[in-house]
Amino acid sequence: MAGHVFVSGGSGYIAGFLIRQLIAEGWQVNTTIRNLAREADVRAWLNVDNSKLTFFAADLMSDEGWAEAMAGCTHVAHVASPIPANAPKHEDELIVPAREGALRALRFAKAAGIKRFVMTSSVAAVAYGHGGTKHHFTEADWTNVESPDAYPYVKSKTIAERAARDWVAANGGDMEFVTVNPSLVLGPLMAPDFSTSLEAIKKLLEGSLPGIPSFGFSIVDVRDVADLHVRCLTAPNMAGERFISAGPFMWMGDVAAVLKEGLGTQARKVPTRRLPNFVLKLLSYFDPIVKQVVGELDNVRDASSQHAKDVLGWQTRDPKESILDTARDMIRLGVVKV
Ligand code: NAP
Repeated sequence: MAGHVFVSGGSGYIAGFLIRQLIAEGWQVNTTIRNLAREADVRAWLNVDNSKLTFFAADLMSDEGWAEAMAGCTHVAHVASPIPANAPKHEDELIVPAREGALRALRFAKAAGIKRFVMTSSVAAVAYGHGGTKHHFTEADWTNVESPDAYPYVKSKTIAERAARDWVAANGGDMEFVTVNPSLVLGPLMAPDFSTSLEAIKKLLEGSLPGIPSFGFSIVDVRDVADLHVRCLTAPNMAGERFISAGPFMWMGDVAAVLKEGLGTQARKVPTRRLPNFVLKLLSYFDPIVKQVVGELDNVRDASSQHAKDVLGWQTRDPKESILDTARDMIRLGVVKV
C-alpha cells in the first residue's frame, strides 16, 4: 500500500529514515522543516527521488503552513518534537512545543480528513517515574510525571502523548490514532547533524568520559523504528494502538565492549574502567545534564516490544550492528576524531 503521507520534522534523524523508506515503497511525501533555507541540505542527505518529496515550512508553535502541508494527504506521521542536547532552563521549553505541536498536528489532520495518524512518542512516556522499583515495562505502563526522576524531556513526551490521546477520544471521530514508543535510537547517520540520542556513542569514542558510568538503556535501530512507523501507517485496525519499539537492555559497559571488539584501534579512546557512582553524584552538583540523569544509575529499564512483534510482525536487528553503524558513520563523517 502507498499513498500521500505527511511527515513532520523532515530534518530529524528518525523522520529521515522514515521518509526514505516511504519513498522507496512508492509513497508521495510532504514534510515540514522550520526554515526552508535548510531544504537543499536536507534533500542532499536524504538522497531520494526528489519528485516524491515536497517541503513546507511549519513550526510546532505556529498554525502557519500546516494546512498547506497536509492538503491531499491521507496519512500523517507526526515525528517532530524537541530533543535537547542540554538541560532546558525551564521544563516548559520542551513540554509546551511537544504538547501544542501534537495537538496542532491533530487539529490540522482532522480538518484535512486524514484517515490514520501515527505519533512518535517514546519509552520516556512509558517507563519513568517509578522510583527505580519497576524494571519491566509494556504498553500498559505510563510514566508518572509527578516523580522526581521524570525530567523535562520525559515529562514532555508523556504529557504530549496523554494530551493527544485525550484529544482523539473527544474529537478524533473516525481518524485512527496510534503511537510508536521507541527506546534509545542508534544506527547509521545520514549527516553530521545527529540526534541527541547518539551522544553517548560520541562521548565513548572521543574518550571524553573519565570512565564508564553505570547507565543502561534499551537500544533500537533507526531503520527498525522507521519500519515500525510504516507498519503502523499501513496495517489494518490501528485505532488507539500503542507500540513500544525497543531492543534489548544494555549497560554502557556492554556498549563500550562492542565498540572495542568491532572497531579495534579506532576505539582506542573508549574507556574500560568503570566510573564510580559517587564521582557522577558529585559531578551532578555542578553539571545540569548529569543532574538530570543521575537517578538513572544502576537502573534497569527493560521495555518489551512483544506487542509490535505479535501484531505487526515487526523484527529488530542485533543492537551490536546499530552501535557499530553509529560509530563508523561518526568517524566517516568527522563527527569524532578517534
Ligand atoms: P531529532 O533528529 O532531534 O529530530 C527532532 C525533529 O523535531 C527535528 O526535525 C526538529 O527540527 C523538530 N523540531 C523540534 N522542535 C521543533 C519545533 N518547535 N517546530 C518544528 N519542528 C521542531 O530527533 P529524533 O531522534 O529524530 O526524534 C524524533 C522523534 O522521536 C521525537 O518525537 C522524539 O521525541 C522521538 N524519540 C526519539 C528517540 C531517540 O532516541 N532518538 C527515542 C524515543 C523517541 P529542527 O531540525 O529544525 O530542529
